[in-house]
Amino acid sequence: MPSQVRIISGPRDQSWDRYVARLVQERGFGHERHYVGITDEKRAEEVRRKLRTAGRHHGVSIKAFWLPCKGCEHGGPDCAYHVSYTAYDLASARAYKNQQTGRR
Ligand SMILES: [Zn+2]
Repeated sequence: MPSQVRIISGPRDQSWDRYVARLVQERGFGHERHYVGITDEKRAEEVRRKLRTAGRHHGVSIKAFWLPCKGCEHGGPDCAYHVSYTAYDLASARAYKNQQTGRR
């Protein structure tokens, strides 16, 4: 299935910006979190993209991917997918990458 869906940035996306801002504020960088309670793949992909976009707005690097729910207590009975996401400070993400490639 071709993914030609365009995500239009508008006022509605501001909530994702706040969400990411709060995430970084509360937990800082490098903590993995799961967004749960996603019922279909399309929504999972949307959540993943929105998190990454919101991260860019804040100068934060977000590693995000979705995975099928293996049964969880928090997502409700219809939970089918989770989005795993971790925030990284852009500077340290870059430094880490350089370190990795430098050692090889
Ligand atoms: Zn779940």
